[in-house]
Amino acid sequence: MKRDIVEEANKIISHFPRFHSEEDPFKILIETILSQRTRDENTEKAAKALFSKYNNVFELSKAQPEDLYELIKPSGMYKQKSKRIIEISKILVDQYNGEVPDTLEELLKLPGVGRKTANIVLYVGFGKKALAVDTHVHRISNRLGWVNTKTPEETEDELKKIIPPELWGPLNGAMVNFGQKICKPISPKCFDCILKDVCPSANQFLKPEKK
Ligand code: SF4
Repeated sequence: MKRDIVEEANKIISHFPRFHSEEDPFKILIETILSQRTRDENTEKAAKALFSKYNNVFELSKAQPEDLYELIKPSGMYKQKSKRIIEISKILVDQYNGEVPDTLEELLKLPGVGRKTANIVLYVGFGKKALAVDTHVHRISNRLGWVNTKTPEETEDELKKIIPPELWGPLNGAMVNFGQKICKPISPKCFDCILKDVCPSANQFLKPEKK
């Protein structure tokens, strides 16, 4: 059967859309830092508490790491994240007049900001065509046989060759939803998957029957 990868990507986007309520690039940047190695609900809790006390980059740039501990504790690694958030806020105030830069090159200069975070800020905060590849996008693209790669960076490069730019932004959020609900890291629900008829990995994760 001839595969149509763009159609498959569109299918994931339409079935698992992700809506972003926040559009302020600074808050998106901080939320993405908070979201590292934790679940969505923990990120939301921490972000809500943090922004209820510190509403902008100028206020956060004057805080001490300890001031943030209790607020962002739900997101885990709170000491490290507090330090990072303040460090970034200071750089934005000192070097960018309190604005978040809107290019990949400049965003990558900020401490702790990698390609995934930078691309999320570019798409969600600035509406640019950017493809954030996290663990879900990397895993699912390989399972589907869209790419055959070892790292998220390689996946980003390869996906950009086969997925049109207007789908890059929406694909990230949709694949995160799809990865959390269906194509899970362990025991994916292939039986319930909209792409089971075309996926080369379908049903390869079934546990062997006990004798
Ligand atoms: S068929 Fe299974 S492995 Fe393939 S995309 Fe769907 S859930 Fe993932």
